Amino acid sequence: MLKGKIIKGLSSFYYVDTENGLYECKARGVFRKKKITPLVGDNVSISIVDEENKKGVVEEIEKRDTELVRPPIANVDKALIVFAVVDPKPNLSLLDRFIVHAEREGLEIVIVFTKSDLDDGSLSNLVEIYETTGYRVIPVSSEKHQNIDKIREELKGNTVVFAGPSGVGKSSLLNEIDESFQLKTGSVSEKIGRGRHTTRHAELLKLECGGMVADTPGFSSLELDGIEEMELKEYFIEFDEYDECRFGSKCVHENEPGCAVKQAVEDGEISQRRYDSYIQLLNEIRQKNSRRY
Ligand code: GDP
Ligand code: ZN
Repeated sequence: MLKGKIIKGLSSFYYVDTENGLYECKARGVFRKKKITPLVGDNVSISIVDEENKKGVVEEIEKRDTELVRPPIANVDKALIVFAVVDPKPNLSLLDRFIVHAEREGLEIVIVFTKSDLDDGSLSNLVEIYETTGYRVIPVSSEKHQNIDKIREELKGNTVVFAGPSGVGKSSLLNEIDESFQLKTGSVSEKIGRGRHTTRHAELLKLECGGMVADTPGFSSLELDGIEEMELKEYFIEFDEYDECRFGSKCVHENEPGCAVKQAVEDGEISQRRYDSYIQLLNEIRQKNSRRY
């Protein structure tokens, strides 16, 4: 048996990347009986049916570390959350929403601010907010080829999704990272109406720097479905160290007296902006959940 990774699925074929090259594989019927569908990103063992024509059968699927729904990819370990410094101006409450999703999926998070060549003075503040929060932040310019190496460093040896709104420069960045890529780039208006919903399958692209990247942006739906009110605070990692609230683990850090998180916001240890995002998302979850009953 040969070990490999599914990098593409098409109809009922899975394309498995191995040290001996790419094999077109069917899945063993037993997976269907057990209601297991192989996913792009799965680490698998295959048996070879026809070496000359590179055909095989997926025999075993290793236990998944993570499993994204949109895009449907297993074993993603890192999300690069990509927003532009300007053009379009970053919507930080949307950025925080991306963070919540990535935290919930258990992904490592790196925040990337693109178009640093267009910085109008807001970049340093953006970097500060998210570094204080506890994330690595990388400003890049595809235009001026700045910090592309730092991004390559993040990709090396990892399976990564880029997540972020349209027009921030994700495709341009990928084209810079790997010269073999020739993804289409364009203005926001040119892109509206295409892409987004047309991709029914996901694919992992192998990078020269030794990593894999999903060919579609991660978590295209940012609904907060299924998140409980008490759960949200777990995804705001900077709250972690302030667990001495008077109401302990029952505190949602909103109006409770003796709340250590609110105190930290007042003391400037937690960003007010991030806290505002938290309250906004909290209210959204409440509305959603009250409709559920
Ligand atoms: P995507 O929708 O996130 O994939 O964004 P694209 O890569 O298609 O880029 C959107 C637009 O931003 C294009 O017109 C790019 O030329 C432009 N752009 C991308 N990266 C940069 C950059 O680093 N600096 C500047 N000034 N423009 C950029
Ligand atoms: Zn509290």
